[in-house]
Amino acid sequence: MNCISETTICLCGLRVSDETHRESPTLTHCFFTLLDRKGLLLRVYTQNIDGLEEVSGVHPDRLVECHGHFRSASCTECRSPYNSDDCKTSMLEKGEAPTCNICGGLVKVDVTFFGEELPSRFNEIVYKDVDSCDLLMVFGTSLLVAPVAYIPEWVSNSTPRVLVNRELVGDFHRQKHTDLYLQGECDDR
Ligand SMILES: [Zn+2]
Repeated sequence: MNCISETTICLCGLRVSDETHRESPTLTHCFFTLLDRKGLLLRVYTQNIDGLEEVSGVHPDRLVECHGHFRSASCTECRSPYNSDDCKTSMLEKGEAPTCNICGGLVKVDVTFFGEELPSRFNEIVYKDVDSCDLLMVFGTSLLVAPVAYIPEWVSNSTPRVLVNRELVGDFHRQKHTDLYLQGECDDR
Protein backbone atom coordinates (compact mmCIF):
# COMPACT_ATOMS: atom_id res chain seq x y z
CA MET A 1 0.00 0.00 0.00
CA ASN A 2 1.67 3.22 -1.09
CA CYS A 3 -0.79 5.66 0.45
CA ILE A 4 1.73 6.75 3.05
CA SER A 5 4.01 9.49 1.89
CA GLU A 6 6.34 12.00 3.45
CA THR A 7 3.84 14.79 2.88
CA THR A 8 0.51 15.41 4.55
CA ILE A 9 -1.25 12.10 4.49
CA CYS A 10 -3.26 11.63 7.64
CA LEU A 11 -5.51 8.84 8.70
CA CYS A 12 -8.74 8.33 10.51
CA GLY A 13 -9.31 4.74 11.35
CA LEU A 14 -11.94 2.57 12.87
CA ARG A 15 -11.37 -0.85 14.15
CA VAL A 16 -13.70 -3.37 15.66
CA SER A 17 -12.33 -6.65 16.77
CA ASP A 18 -14.53 -9.66 17.36
CA GLU A 19 -11.81 -11.05 19.57
CA THR A 20 -11.95 -8.57 22.42
CA HIS A 21 -10.49 -11.14 24.81
CA ARG A 22 -7.11 -10.76 23.17
CA GLU A 23 -4.68 -9.03 25.42
CA SER A 24 -1.91 -8.18 22.99
CA PRO A 25 -1.93 -5.58 20.24
CA THR A 26 -2.26 -7.03 16.75
CA LEU A 27 -0.49 -6.19 13.53
CA THR A 28 -3.18 -3.58 12.84
CA HIS A 29 -2.57 -1.85 16.17
CA CYS A 30 1.14 -1.77 15.37
CA PHE A 31 0.34 -0.21 11.99
CA PHE A 32 -1.48 2.62 13.78
CA THR A 33 1.50 3.10 16.08
CA LEU A 34 3.90 3.16 13.14
CA LEU A 35 1.83 5.86 11.42
CA ASP A 36 1.75 7.83 14.66
CA ARG A 37 5.52 7.65 15.11
CA LYS A 38 6.02 8.82 11.54
CA GLY A 39 3.76 11.80 12.14
CA LEU A 40 1.18 10.55 9.63
CA LEU A 41 -1.67 9.76 11.99
CA LEU A 42 -4.42 12.27 12.54
CA ARG A 43 -6.65 10.10 14.69
CA VAL A 44 -7.75 6.58 15.42
CA TYR A 45 -11.44 6.22 16.17
CA THR A 46 -11.96 2.83 17.71
CA GLN A 47 -15.10 1.07 18.81
CA ASN A 48 -13.03 -1.45 20.72
CA ILE A 49 -13.13 -1.29 24.50
CA ASP A 50 -10.08 -3.48 25.06
CA GLY A 51 -7.68 -0.53 25.17
CA LEU A 52 -5.19 -2.19 22.83
CA GLU A 53 -4.66 0.93 20.73
CA GLU A 54 -3.32 2.64 23.82
CA VAL A 55 -1.28 -0.44 24.82
CA SER A 56 0.28 -0.53 21.35
CA GLY A 57 1.55 3.01 21.84
CA VAL A 58 -0.83 5.26 19.91
CA HIS A 59 -0.53 8.64 21.60
CA PRO A 60 -3.68 9.51 23.64
CA ASP A 61 -4.03 12.76 21.67
CA ARG A 62 -4.41 10.72 18.48
CA LEU A 63 -6.89 8.25 19.97
CA VAL A 64 -10.66 8.42 20.43
CA GLU A 65 -12.03 5.39 22.23
CA CYS A 66 -15.60 5.96 21.09
CA HIS A 67 -17.15 3.37 23.36
CA GLY A 68 -14.88 3.94 26.32
CA HIS A 69 -12.47 1.57 28.04
CA PHE A 70 -11.83 -0.34 31.26
CA ARG A 71 -8.90 1.75 32.52
CA SER A 72 -11.06 4.05 34.63
CA ALA A 73 -14.40 4.08 36.41
CA SER A 74 -16.73 6.82 37.58
CA CYS A 75 -20.00 7.56 39.31
CA THR A 76 -23.01 7.46 36.99
CA GLU A 77 -24.58 10.35 38.93
CA CYS A 78 -21.93 12.92 39.84
CA ARG A 79 -19.20 11.62 37.46
CA SER A 80 -16.61 11.52 40.25
CA PRO A 81 -13.72 9.19 39.40
CA TYR A 82 -13.55 5.84 41.19
CA ASN A 83 -10.70 3.38 41.38
CA SER A 84 -11.24 1.04 38.41
CA ASP A 85 -9.56 -1.94 40.10
CA ASP A 86 -11.88 -1.58 43.10
CA CYS A 87 -14.82 -1.32 40.72
CA LYS A 88 -13.84 -4.49 38.86
CA THR A 89 -13.21 -6.37 42.11
CA SER A 90 -16.62 -5.42 43.44
CA MET A 91 -18.37 -6.46 40.25
CA LEU A 92 -16.49 -9.73 39.79
CA GLU A 93 -16.27 -10.90 43.39
CA LYS A 94 -19.44 -9.48 44.94
CA GLY A 95 -21.53 -9.39 41.78
CA GLU A 96 -22.65 -5.84 42.44
CA ALA A 97 -21.76 -2.35 41.33
CA PRO A 98 -19.94 -0.26 43.92
CA THR A 99 -21.45 2.99 45.13
CA CYS A 100 -19.93 6.44 44.95
CA ASN A 101 -18.10 7.64 48.05
CA ILE A 102 -19.45 11.15 47.47
CA CYS A 103 -23.09 10.89 46.41
CA GLY A 104 -23.94 7.21 46.82
CA GLY A 105 -24.71 6.78 43.12
CA LEU A 106 -23.82 3.63 41.23
CA VAL A 107 -20.29 3.38 39.86
CA LYS A 108 -19.32 1.68 36.61
CA VAL A 109 -16.27 1.36 34.42
CA ASP A 110 -16.03 4.05 31.74
CA VAL A 111 -17.43 1.89 28.97
CA THR A 112 -20.30 3.27 26.90
CA PHE A 113 -23.33 1.01 27.07
CA PHE A 114 -26.06 0.86 24.45
CA GLY A 115 -28.19 4.02 24.63
CA GLU A 116 -25.57 6.05 26.50
CA GLU A 117 -23.89 9.17 25.19
CA LEU A 118 -20.47 8.73 23.64
CA PRO A 119 -17.54 10.38 25.40
CA SER A 120 -17.74 14.14 24.70
CA ARG A 121 -14.33 14.02 23.00
CA PHE A 122 -15.95 12.30 20.01
CA ASN A 123 -18.26 15.21 19.15
CA GLU A 124 -15.62 17.77 20.03
CA ILE A 125 -13.20 16.68 17.34
CA VAL A 126 -14.77 14.34 14.81
CA TYR A 127 -16.17 17.02 12.49
CA LYS A 128 -12.88 18.86 12.32
CA ASP A 129 -11.07 15.58 11.70
CA VAL A 130 -13.28 14.49 8.81
CA ASP A 131 -12.74 17.89 7.21
CA SER A 132 -8.98 17.79 7.57
CA CYS A 133 -8.02 14.16 6.97
CA ASP A 134 -6.36 13.34 3.66
CA LEU A 135 -7.11 9.64 3.81
CA LEU A 136 -9.65 7.58 5.69
CA MET A 137 -8.88 3.98 6.49
CA VAL A 138 -11.47 1.62 7.94
CA PHE A 139 -10.55 -1.73 9.44
CA GLY A 140 -12.61 -4.73 10.49
CA THR A 141 -16.08 -3.41 11.17
CA SER A 142 -19.73 -4.00 10.40
CA LEU A 143 -20.25 -0.22 10.26
CA LEU A 144 -23.59 -0.72 11.93
CA VAL A 145 -23.17 1.19 15.18
CA ALA A 146 -23.91 4.90 15.00
CA PRO A 147 -22.53 7.49 15.12
CA VAL A 148 -19.11 6.00 14.39
CA ALA A 149 -20.57 4.21 11.37
CA TYR A 150 -21.26 7.59 9.76
CA ILE A 151 -17.62 8.74 9.70
CA PRO A 152 -17.00 7.36 6.18
CA GLU A 153 -20.01 9.35 4.94
CA TRP A 154 -18.79 12.53 6.57
CA VAL A 155 -15.44 12.82 4.77
CA SER A 156 -15.47 14.87 1.59
CA ASN A 157 -16.06 13.22 -1.76
CA SER A 158 -12.48 13.91 -2.74
CA THR A 159 -10.99 12.13 0.30
CA PRO A 160 -9.75 8.64 -0.60
CA ARG A 161 -11.17 5.89 1.57
CA VAL A 162 -9.69 2.46 2.18
CA LEU A 163 -11.70 -0.42 3.60
CA VAL A 164 -9.88 -3.49 4.92
CA ASN A 165 -12.65 -5.86 5.83
CA ARG A 166 -14.19 -9.29 5.28
CA GLU A 167 -17.11 -7.71 3.44
CA LEU A 168 -18.29 -4.49 1.89
CA VAL A 169 -20.11 -2.44 4.54
CA GLY A 170 -21.92 0.84 5.14
CA ASP A 171 -21.23 3.76 2.85
CA PHE A 172 -18.59 1.75 0.99
CA HIS A 173 -21.46 0.16 -0.95
CA ARG A 174 -21.49 3.45 -2.90
CA GLN A 175 -18.05 2.47 -4.25
CA LYS A 176 -16.75 5.93 -5.04
CA HIS A 177 -14.00 5.99 -7.65
CA THR A 178 -11.56 7.08 -4.92
CA ASP A 179 -12.37 4.05 -2.72
CA LEU A 180 -10.08 1.08 -2.30
CA TYR A 181 -11.56 -2.14 -0.94
CA LEU A 182 -9.13 -4.78 0.33
CA GLN A 183 -11.18 -7.85 1.18
CA GLY A 184 -9.89 -9.99 4.01
CA GLU A 185 -8.91 -10.02 7.66
CA CYS A 186 -7.28 -6.78 8.77
CA ASP A 187 -4.46 -8.68 10.47
CA ASP A 188 -3.65 -10.79 7.41
CA ARG A 189 -0.02 -10.52 6.43
ZN1 LIG B 1 -21.29 10.25 42.78
